[in-house]
Amino acid sequence: MNHTRRTLLKTLAAGAAFSTLGFPTILRAAGQRIVVIGGGTGGATVAKYLRLLDATLDVTLIEKNAIYTTCYMSNEVLSGERTLESLQFNYEGLKAHGVKIVIDEVTTIDYEAQLVRTKGGISYPYDRCVVSPGIDFRYERIDGYSLEVSEQIPHAWKAGPQTLLLRDQLQAMPNGGTVVLAAPPNPYRCPPAPYERASQIAYYLKQHKPNSKLIVLDPKPSFTKQALFEKAWTELYGYKTDNALLEWHSADQASGVVGLEVATKTAITEFGDRFPAAVLNIIPPQKAGKLAFDADLVDSTGWCPVNKLTFESTRHPKVHVIGDACMADSLPKSGFAANSEAKVCASAIHALLNGLEPESPSFSNGCYSLVGKDYAISVVGVYRLSNDGKVIESIAGSGGTSALNPTAQERLFDASYAYSWYNNFTQDVFK
Ligand code: FAD
Repeated sequence: MNHTRRTLLKTLAAGAAFSTLGFPTILRAAGQRIVVIGGGTGGATVAKYLRLLDATLDVTLIEKNAIYTTCYMSNEVLSGERTLESLQFNYEGLKAHGVKIVIDEVTTIDYEAQLVRTKGGISYPYDRCVVSPGIDFRYERIDGYSLEVSEQIPHAWKAGPQTLLLRDQLQAMPNGGTVVLAAPPNPYRCPPAPYERASQIAYYLKQHKPNSKLIVLDPKPSFTKQALFEKAWTELYGYKTDNALLEWHSADQASGVVGLEVATKTAITEFGDRFPAAVLNIIPPQKAGKLAFDADLVDSTGWCPVNKLTFESTRHPKVHVIGDACMADSLPKSGFAANSEAKVCASAIHALLNGLEPESPSFSNGCYSLVGKDYAISVVGVYRLSNDGKVIESIAGSGGTSALNPTAQERLFDASYAYSWYNNFTQDVFK
């Protein structure tokens, strides 16, 4: 399509009318039904933005829980800097945008009949469906771990009761005890978050249990923002000294956790080294949320392949997958990225419903990690679809991290930007 025609179509889409024959008519999207599954970061954003793009669309959001608890900032609950309640949102804001909210669990998608079926026994017809079910865990990859065991040995990688369980265990452990944190292999939800968690736990120990120690066991040789984290750990937690509150053991030491002994809370590594703990936090290997498997949206990787222009599943037409569950190349599995994908997806669906060609998208991601009191580090990135339309790639020269040697004021600014980001971001998603 040449540029002039594309611009014309875009202008008409933004206005009122265009038919496939070229005659003005009422927008074809009017009244079309879009069912969104999962009211987390991706799902809530796409539902809201579809309605903002076109208030005549019939948008229904189906979510299991009446209250959503953000994972972002949940590491601060562990150090006592935040309450879990401060991370919770309902769906009244989305209702005000005209999104129909259904609290129920989706069991299947009937692709032939274009119906979403729920546990509550109701079927919802769709013209387009968007799935944003988040992640699930590969418990079986850690010998001795399971959903049941996670009720004693938490992962705390979905915020809520798991976060409180881990916080309570930290509060109950003796001064002088060892906390062991098993970091996950790639790819997983929120690359910097295990290291932010390590920082927040170390911050808690420093204040309340200074004779204790945190050991991070990692199956990876390196991690995101590593230089910034290590600098903060050195300054705040005696990293790499005899009195270190925090140790990081990398893949070079074969430190991935492959098993555990529940009774003694012992993590067992690839080499067979045993790490008994007062508190054991296992963040297991991950895969797309269960519904993505039940609805045949995953491939052999355990994640959902999509057309990167529209986020339409390459396995089932008219169904789009966004957020952590989808494969989005260089874009990390983060809330920020899920929100960015959701906006691209909403715009693409709007275009498709109107018989228009979706615009080639760009994306952004930003992530703040709180490493101590009034001390945050950050990373941002900008991405676009490659010219052949196949891969989401990082734009060379874009983005970056916070300074390695910031002034005290810059550090303070980063911490205040982190809290502002949270407030603005949750407003964008849920209000
Ligand atoms: P989710 O937000 O998990 O939403 C999935 C929703 O689908 C859930 O509400 C679930 O109940 C619902 N659902 C699932 N199955 C069904 C079904 N069958 N029927 C109905 N509903 C269903 N990201 C950042 O950008 N910045 C951060 O600072 C950050 N910090 C993090 C810290 C931690 C400790 C963790 C664990 C994550 C962090 N993240 C952060 C990542 C972020 O939370 C996720 O990337 C983001 O939530 C992904 O959005 P999603 O829509 O894919 O999944």
